[in-house]
Order: sequence, then structure tokens, then C-alpha cells
Amino acid sequence: MDGDLSALYARLGVSPRVYAYGEAALERLADRFGEIDAVAEYNQGKVLASMRENRLSAAHFAATTGYGYDDAGREVLERIYAGIFHTEAALVRPQITCGTHALAVALSANLLPGDELLSPAGAPYDTLEEVIGIRESPCSLAEYGVSYRQVDLLPDGSFDYDGIRSAIHGKTKLITIQRSKGYAVRPSFSVEQIGELIRFCKSVKPDVKVLVDNCYGEFVERREPSDVGADMTAGSLIKNPGGGLAPAGGYICGTRACVERCAYRLSAPGLGQEVGANLGLLPALYQGLFLAPAVTAGALKGAVFAANLYEPLGFPCVPGGEEPRHDIIQAVELGSREAMSAFCLGIQSAAPVDSFVTPEPWPMPGYDAEVIMAAGAFVQGSSIELSADGPIRPPYAVYFQGGLTWYHAKLGILMSLQKLAEAGLVTLPE
Ligand SMILES: *Cc1c(COP(=O)(O)O)cnc(C)c1O
Repeated sequence: MDGDLSALYARLGVSPRVYAYGEAALERLADRFGEIDAVAEYNQGKVLASMRENRLSAAHFAATTGYGYDDAGREVLERIYAGIFHTEAALVRPQITCGTHALAVALSANLLPGDELLSPAGAPYDTLEEVIGIRESPCSLAEYGVSYRQVDLLPDGSFDYDGIRSAIHGKTKLITIQRSKGYAVRPSFSVEQIGELIRFCKSVKPDVKVLVDNCYGEFVERREPSDVGADMTAGSLIKNPGGGLAPAGGYICGTRACVERCAYRLSAPGLGQEVGANLGLLPALYQGLFLAPAVTAGALKGAVFAANLYEPLGFPCVPGGEEPRHDIIQAVELGSREAMSAFCLGIQSAAPVDSFVTPEPWPMPGYDAEVIMAAGAFVQGSSIELSADGPIRPPYAVYFQGGLTWYHAKLGILMSLQKLAEAGLVTLPE
């Protein structure tokens, strides 16, 4: 029948039973979705205010090539980011290839031989292990004589303030805090919690600098880590702040002193922020940023929906269905390699691109276990687009994120459940 959503979902591969189970879960989520929309409205205003205050005009969309001297569009984009994050400066570049690169630039620019880096809230994201030298790697910070110390979270997930106090000493130069849980099964930190941790660290050592890995956290709350004392806040443009339209890039927002050093590290001492052609990518970076609060809201709705679909079926979810959100990641513990494969197959088959492909586990550079990934994205590797991935190791958790629209996220999650049901790996209630 024309206009019948259930029939359309059936055509897309979602059975009436799975569809009905999803609709029942959705009925309970109206208030949560209302809160998400309110945050998006606030952040849309923040983005728009910064674009207006920096007098963005069509002239700023022009492509530059070569050295990229006097690139007004690049400079205004960076001022707009600084306005949104309330920082003195920002470095926003397609030449920053990914989130790991942004973080590596921030770390290596602000740590010198003999300095120590402290992670006060447990292990950093997998790919940073090689950047820091926790896993030996050529050109790691360790190879350049930067030492590293880590204080794990307490068993109840809280900060180990005593441990942190005694880990901070004369050589401690920089502290790195990761907002999102990454591939760990711990809660992501709220901006409030990050602020408390920063205040504590700076009370122990007032001149210590703090970097926050903000990947997947942008626009999830009304404030960013830079609003609560972070000296640098960094992330990837193929996650939240690129709004799905940025084809590549990364950002570092922070104090002028820290960001200037990042620019020298990214290009070359003496050149810094003055070079770096925009290669015609600015319209996508601007438009993506403009859409980012709404896109992030769609992804958040998807994450909340997934938790409220899977948790009642007996799959532990981090965060839980009722818990507050501090990033767009939803971890679902599926308990087996087979269930991870089925989940990812569902996400993949709901994609606009490469919907016919079957995801297989694969060794990935930067990760120490095989990783399975589902993504049929317009921008390769973009994880603000609907995607799911996870290392094949206990507790066999799949990390689900993104969706350029809530409707696509919804379909993807329903498809994942459909594939689990077809494989006999889940029993839906009657
Ligand atoms: C995605 C991510 C990174 C960086 O990953 P890239 O794939 O290099 O962009 C770092 N930290 C966290 C928490 C992330 O989610």
C-alpha cells in the first residue's frame, strides 16, 4: 500500500515483527528526543552566532593552491571555530588527516624531551598507544624522550584523585583526557566531569597544560571541554564537527600559545599557521559545520534508540538506555564474533553506498586485535555517517555511531536487529 511505512520497511528488509518492536521502543523516547533537540537548537545558535560575528561571506569560499598565503577563507573558518569553542585560536585544516593526527600534532608540539605526559583517566584510544610509545613505534613520543604515566580509573569508574596527585610531579608538562570511551567499556565523561578533573590537576600544578580528545563529543552538550579549562581541544572533521560534508580534516582549538606550536609542528617552524592551501574544500567545511549540530542530534537519537532496543533483549549497553549522553557512541555487548558480524551486516545493508557488501574482520593498522567495520559512507571512513565497528575480543562489543539523519540511523539499527534475528542470535518478545 502506498504510504505504508511498515510495507516500505519490509521492502528494505525489516520484518513487521522487528518494525513493531522498534515502534514500541520509540514510544518511550519522546522526552529524550525533545532534550536532544533542545541541545541541537542551542548549538545551532552558537554556530550561527560565530558565523555572523566573523562576517562569513561568499568570498571566503574561494579555493587557494600552492603555499596558501593570505587565505582569508581558511582564517575566517579558524576564527569561527575559535568562536564556537570560546578559545583564543584554532587550527582547522584538511591537512590534518584524522583525529589521531590532530592529537599527535597537539602532543608532539607541546611536549619536549624530558617532559612527561600524564593520562589521569585510564588508557588512551588505541591508535594513541603508538603515538605515545606505549606500544613501540618509530617516531613515537617515547623515542623522542617524552615519558608517559597513566592513572587508571577506580573500580567504580571515578577518578583516582589520590593517584593523580601523586603522579603529577616536576616533569609533568601535559595532561591528556579522552572524553569519549573509545573502544573501552567505561562511561564517556561529561564536560562537567572533565572540568572537575582539569580543576583538580591545575590545583596540583597550576602551569600544567591539558589536552582533551574531543572525538565524537562535539555538540552533544551545550558546552565543550574548552569551556571548562582545557588548553587544547582536538578532534576529527569526519566525525561530528564536519557534519558529514567535510571530506577530510581535523581541528585543534585552544590557547594562542598552544595552537601556535601545533601550527609549527603541522607545517614547519617559522611557517606555522600562515601556510596550507585550502584546495577548494572550504565550502564543505563551512556547510558541514553549519549542519553539525543537527547531524549530531540525529546520531544521538540513533544511539539512544539502539540502547533502548538492545538492552531489553539482554545485551548490556554502554551507556544504558536511560543514561545521559556525552558522545554519540553506543557500545552494545553482543557476546560473540557471530553476533558482531550479524550486527555489522545489518548496518552495512542499510547503507546508501555499498549496501551489498558483507563486512569481514580484518587486522587494522593502529589496532592490536582484528577489527570488523560496517560503513557504507559517502566519505570514506566517515564515522559521523552510520557505521559500526569493534575489535574482535571479549566482551565482543560493537561500537555503533553516526547517521546523517535520524531516519537512516533508525533503519540501520532495525536492520542490525533483523540480521541477529535471522541468524537465530536473538529472540524478540511475543
Ligand atoms: C576516532 C577517535 C580518535 C581518532 O581516530 P581517527 O580514526 O584517527 O580519526 C581518537 N580518539 C577517540 C576517542 C576517537 O573516537
